[in-house]
Amino acid sequence: MAQSNNFKIVSLAELKIILDQFVFKRKIVSLHIHHTYSPDISKWNKNPDGMYWQRVMERYHIGTRKFNAIAQHLTLLPDGNFVTGRDFNLTPASASGFNDGAFMIEMIGNFDKGYDVLGGKQASAIYEFCSFFVEKFGIGLEGIKFHREFPGAGKTCPGTGIDKNTFLQSVMSIRKISQQNELKEAIDIINNAKIITDKALWMGKANTDINIWYLLTKTAKYLKEKGINK
Ligand SMILES: [Zn+2]
Repeated sequence: MAQSNNFKIVSLAELKIILDQFVFKRKIVSLHIHHTYSPDISKWNKNPDGMYWQRVMERYHIGTRKFNAIAQHLTLLPDGNFVTGRDFNLTPASASGFNDGAFMIEMIGNFDKGYDVLGGKQASAIYEFCSFFVEKFGIGLEGIKFHREFPGAGKTCPGTGIDKNTFLQSVMSIRKISQQNELKEAIDIINNAKIITDKALWMGKANTDINIWYLLTKTAKYLKEKGINK
């Protein structure tokens, strides 16, 4: 049985860097969200060791399910950190018939109603990750898929306790906050380059008009690359 040597526990910030540096050789069109069901949070609390559970899942996927590798690209731990899994350039074993172009993440927990509740650091990590991911791959919120949405899934995954609309609203509000931060950074750069003079006015706009985000962040990126930002 070929175990992966590449599993690594990373923070969200580290994961973003890894994803930005990774050379994707396949087109990513969707992000598939799952819960592990088992281990659930109570099992995790008894043994909060991300690498241990990643290996348990890997053994199950390779040994019992006869997959070539662990099914998922990432596992999200209850503490908000992630464990890397399957090679990002390999198609996941996520939802039969819908795996092409998918990127797969498992969240440790059983989020069916009456069991675990997605919350705390784990919840903010998945919302922030989704926000980052849809932006990076330009797939939009419609690119976020719950396992149960696929015909024939026959599962409640990622749990009946997670409502899709509420989930997407949380992703959207995180996205808005990070866009506002990016926008303010961009305005700073554009102001330093003396392209605008009324910085305060633009900063005010940043809180209300997210539509200027695309143009201004691209402009700032261009200025930064050309070194015209000081
Ligand atoms: Zn699932």
